[in-house]
Amino acid sequence: MNKKLNEFHSDISGFYKLPLKERQDQLAKLANLDQEEIKLLQTLGYFSPDQIDMFIENVVGSYQLPMGIGLNFKVNGKDYIIPMVIEEPSVVAAASNMAKVARKLGGFQSEEVNPVMISQIQLTHIQDIDLAKEKLASNKTKILEIANEQDPLLNKLGGGALDLEVRIIETRKGKMIILHLFVNVLDAMGANIVNTMAEAVSPYIEKLCGAKIYLRIVSNLATQRLAKCKAVFDKDLLGGEEVIEGILNAYEFAVADPFRATTHNKGIMNGIVALAQATGNDTRALEAGAHAYASLGGTYKPLTKFEVDSEGNLVGEIEVPLAFGIFGGITKNHPMARLALKILNVQSASELSQVAAALGLAQNVGALRALASEGIQKGHMALHSRNIAKLAGAPDELIEKVAKKIVEDKKIRVDYAKEVLKEIVKSKNL
Ligand code: NAD
Repeated sequence: MNKKLNEFHSDISGFYKLPLKERQDQLAKLANLDQEEIKLLQTLGYFSPDQIDMFIENVVGSYQLPMGIGLNFKVNGKDYIIPMVIEEPSVVAAASNMAKVARKLGGFQSEEVNPVMISQIQLTHIQDIDLAKEKLASNKTKILEIANEQDPLLNKLGGGALDLEVRIIETRKGKMIILHLFVNVLDAMGANIVNTMAEAVSPYIEKLCGAKIYLRIVSNLATQRLAKCKAVFDKDLLGGEEVIEGILNAYEFAVADPFRATTHNKGIMNGIVALAQATGNDTRALEAGAHAYASLGGTYKPLTKFEVDSEGNLVGEIEVPLAFGIFGGITKNHPMARLALKILNVQSASELSQVAAALGLAQNVGALRALASEGIQKGHMALHSRNIAKLAGAPDELIEKVAKKIVEDKKIRVDYAKEVLKEIVKSKNL
């Protein structure tokens, strides 16, 4: 079909082959962008055109988000400044406040996180399932050897393929063997490492078992890589008995109701994902793993637990699989991720996961405390008021003024912000 120049369409073949500048020009024409918008598209910040072009396909620009720092964190006796990249107001403040509350009684205690990932190999069309199972068990050493040949550096550093697990699943296409390959990925997130190993061992396994192998891919349900962290939150700093009673009720609500548990866990992930984003980690992998783990028992459950100690303080615990890396992916290629890791000052992927678990727990207590006392909107909307002021069309120099007024008047709405803005502008012009 002939497409007229400038006629809107999304069928642009070879777009990815164009230099960045030409991609931007073509998009500007297609989407009818004005000069200001084109300038914005061309603002790459700390990236050079070559750098930004390396990350993904069809790059046309760079998208910025704010990076804040979570303060007051002490995990296993060590202090951390936690970089957080997130667009949602009050997340950083809530985490910092709750870290301060936990700090009074020793901060967060976290267990070592075993950096073991699982790769899945799907064996189908097997004649004799029991025989195949037996052959996999008796040739385990050879399979692990082939896997380990793929990553000599990882081996040299002390990591590598460790073990196998044979699972049999019933599917609508018959029985399948799902072979799990357990790999110590050390300081990497590990998806590429284990995918490479799974692909490498598959031809041998196919022959060995007389099977047809389809998928060879990491599982994001990283059950071997659990982060477990605990903290005691001081009763008085939290707001007293009544607030703790509210938090415990909120927790029981989440235990009994998946609708609530989903939002409960979303709050936890506010922190974990913000840290993941800052350090160049795979946020989707972490989200998928956490939510799958929450439903592993058959019903979707909260990832945290709460109780009260003998002094009436709140004891919180979190257990969540966390596949964080400080090596590989973009962790060392993205300049801000590199900087974030320097600020955080962690020496291993395990240490990063431990801090992330502490952050998730703090975030959760922050949200529950707000919900159980003044309600989430007070703090949230006060911060959100700046966004509302901007949405109402306030120029940068008037945002603070409009935001302050709509908070004072307890009308944090765009229509009211527009009214306030109009009044301010009018009074200035007088
Ligand atoms: P990677 O392949 O970029 O780097 C890992 C390599 O670094 C290893 O092969 C190892 O040889 C080397 N290395 C050097 N020092 C190391 C150390 N101390 N610890 C560990 N390795 C060390 O990274 P990766 O972590 O295997 O892959 C992560 C990337 O894979 C992420 O960007 C993720 O988005 C992507 N990915 C994810 C999925 C998924 O989650 N389903 C699927 C495919 C790809």
